[in-house]
Amino acid sequence: MMRTFRVAERKGATLAHDPATGLTHRAGRDLPTGRLALDAREVGQWPVVHPAACGGSTPVSVCWSPVVRCNLHCPHCLDDKNVSELGTAERRRIAGLIGESDILGVDISGGEPLLLGDLADLAGELTSAGCVVSVTTNGWHLRRRAAELADHVDAVKVSLDGPTGLVHDAWRGKDSYNRAVDGIKEAVDRGLTVQIQSVLMASNRTLAQDLVRLAQRLGANGVTFLQMLPIGEAVRLGGQEMLSDSEARAIVEDLEVPDDLSVRVRTRDGAGGFTVIRADGQVWRNDRPAERIETLHALRTPADLALTGPDGSA
Ligand code: SF4
Repeated sequence: MMRTFRVAERKGATLAHDPATGLTHRAGRDLPTGRLALDAREVGQWPVVHPAACGGSTPVSVCWSPVVRCNLHCPHCLDDKNVSELGTAERRRIAGLIGESDILGVDISGGEPLLLGDLADLAGELTSAGCVVSVTTNGWHLRRRAAELADHVDAVKVSLDGPTGLVHDAWRGKDSYNRAVDGIKEAVDRGLTVQIQSVLMASNRTLAQDLVRLAQRLGANGVTFLQMLPIGEAVRLGGQEMLSDSEARAIVEDLEVPDDLSVRVRTRDGAGGFTVIRADGQVWRNDRPAERIETLHALRTPADLALTGPDGSA
């Protein structure tokens, strides 16, 4: 299946960043740089490069959370709801700054990004600058906005906490499952690449196989199982729900995965070192493993995205 990737040269290597999985691969052949349609199966066979080993002065990808508001209230939410939100003009400014940097991929997250009226404009600004763009959503508004997103983003990541309404709605609230599933169907019908994201927990670990089957039935591109991070609301749940990275890896390795689906786990160790642009325009980078905020500074120029602290420290 052909999908759009961002290809770039870094540290003498040709890299291909996948907006659906968030992974960066070392290309197995010569490629021109820029946004490129590539066979996802071929790219999936190329070795994955950890973000910290990609080289370059800026992170290979960032998570941008331009909105804190959300229509749901999940107990495992990672977000700090006390962060203030910038307005439309400031959001546009930040999209421009990211576009001026050599960041390859941007995941627009939240809060719930589908609450933003200017989401497609922001994504369009980033793709025009050469980035690949994904949107992470709870799926509630996806059915309504899928057609608009299909013209502006390269992948949609939809959060599902289980393969049934009973399990998912217990975390996210009544009707959340049906709304998300309807949204996924609409997005797939519109030609969008859909990646299902699921926080792997002690209480849903036995349902991982059913979630993979659901993803295949819905026509999703793949499933990313996320290890819970001890950040935000999730801190309170950590002790009872958190799995070790080795437990999570074993669960995912035991799954039967259809040929047309990519399934992986993002361990806590693998989540380390990621960069987030918050809704208030502050940049933070977590440490490795992902347990605390390491740096926090305002994003005023593309140089503020560099892989060093504001004081120049690495
Ligand atoms: S986890 Fe996602 S859907 Fe749930 S409250 Fe947080 S931002 Fe909203």
